[in-house]
Order: sequence, then C-alpha cells, then structure tokens
Amino acid sequence: MINNTQAFILAYNKYKTSSIIASFLTKNSIIDAICYKAKKDSKAFGSDFETVSKIQISLYQKKQPNLSILKESSIIKNYNLLEKSIYSSLAVFYIREVLLYSAKDFDERYFILMEKILNALEKLEEEKLLLNENDLLKNYINILLRAFEMKVLYIAGISPQLDSCILCSNRNADFYSITEGGIICDNCKISSKDAIKLEKGDIDFMRIIKKTSLIDIAQNKELNNFYINSITNVRDIMNKSLFNHLNKNFKSLKVLEEVLFN
Ligand SMILES: [Zn+2]
Repeated sequence: MINNTQAFILAYNKYKTSSIIASFLTKNSIIDAICYKAKKDSKAFGSDFETVSKIQISLYQKKQPNLSILKESSIIKNYNLLEKSIYSSLAVFYIREVLLYSAKDFDERYFILMEKILNALEKLEEEKLLLNENDLLKNYINILLRAFEMKVLYIAGISPQLDSCILCSNRNADFYSITEGGIICDNCKISSKDAIKLEKGDIDFMRIIKKTSLIDIAQNKELNNFYINSITNVRDIMNKSLFNHLNKNFKSLKVLEEVLFN
C-alpha cells in the first residue's frame, strides 16, 4: 500500500553504503522507513533529511509494517533560519530526540506540537534579526523548550497539576513533587521524597507556559523580564518530570545547554 503523508524527520542513520533508515513523525505515528538510493553518488534522494523541514513523503507500507520503503520526498516548508542558528538547530535536535521517545502513542497532537515549536523558534529568529539580541534569543529558547516539555507531558496525560496541592487540595502549596506530578503543600511535603521548594513566581510562570500557545510565548515581550528568576527552577522541574515520564536522559539537551548557558 502506498501512503502519502506529511512528515517531520526525527532521526536518520546510514544503512549499508548508500541507504538511509529514517524515523518520520507523521500525523498518525512514527514511521520507520528505508530510503534506498538509486546510485551511490545520487545526492537528490535523502538530502531533504539533512534540513529542518516539513516534508511530503510517499511510502510503501507492507501489511506487517515494521519497515516501510520511502518512494519519494519533497520539502513543503523549509526552516532555513533555524538551520543557520547554532542555538535553534541544537534546540531542534533536542525536540526531535524528545519526540522520538514520546510520540510513540498514536496521537496527532505530537505532529501539531512539532510544527508549532518550529514556527515559534522561527518567529524568535526573525525577531532576533531585527533586534540583533543573542542573549534574549537564548532566554526565549530556554523558555520555549520548557513550554514544549510541558505540552509533551500534557499530551501524555500527565500535565503538571498547578491549581492546588495535588494530594489534599490545599490552595497554599509552595512545593513541587515530580512523582506526584504537581504542587504540594507544607503538610503533604512531609510524606513526599522529592519535594522541590518553589520560589515566588515559579507557579505563575509554570501556569503561563502551560496555558499559553508557543507562538504567543515567542511574541510575549514581558515574559523574560517577569520570570527571569523562575526559569532555572522550572527548567529543573520540567527536565526531571520528563525523565520521570520517559526514563531517559537526552544527550542533545546536554549539548544544547552547554552552548546556551556559556
Ligand atoms: Zn497537601
């Protein structure tokens, strides 16, 4: 069966001398496909995978779809500004790695999330061209990635509970528990092994990135000023929450953070 679909590339590896095995994020799920090259020196086939792009692919899927065969691919939208930016291209590596492990559920929202985070990063890069502000760009990438992680957890059905203590509903809750997946109060923290103390502004910041669309975050000029003191704590909470969900440390995150915070 031939399947024509839109896709984002999540990972690809060389296979034998001239072929590639690629993982595509589609609206249905992640599809692994082998891409045979017609000739060894043929550049055309598979070169789309080295770009940051939304692509159209045509796949031959077998009845037992372990590995599909890529017949054709073409670029629908190329995120050229992200490819040129060291920060955004490393952010894309991290986003791809997270989705490679989390988007295994059959859920169209991962595909939509991928498109939205790329559009938001592109917006940041466009504004950076106008302002020539590298530090601001780095801060906003940091904020956007925390929002991205929040939305991955939301799709997985484990969105952080931020309204009241997740254990007793006490409105006065200044701690966060990764294993409980939400804020907890002073009393409940006694029985919790992983209570993280929240500073003023942390909960508000998490509520905002939970509820605000990625493109609005990218365009909100005040976010950086208001929540500059909360981002480190929230980053720690989101990274630990994602680890708790996927049980995986991301190499790409380590590389990104070395570049972003130095
Ligand atoms: Zn409580």
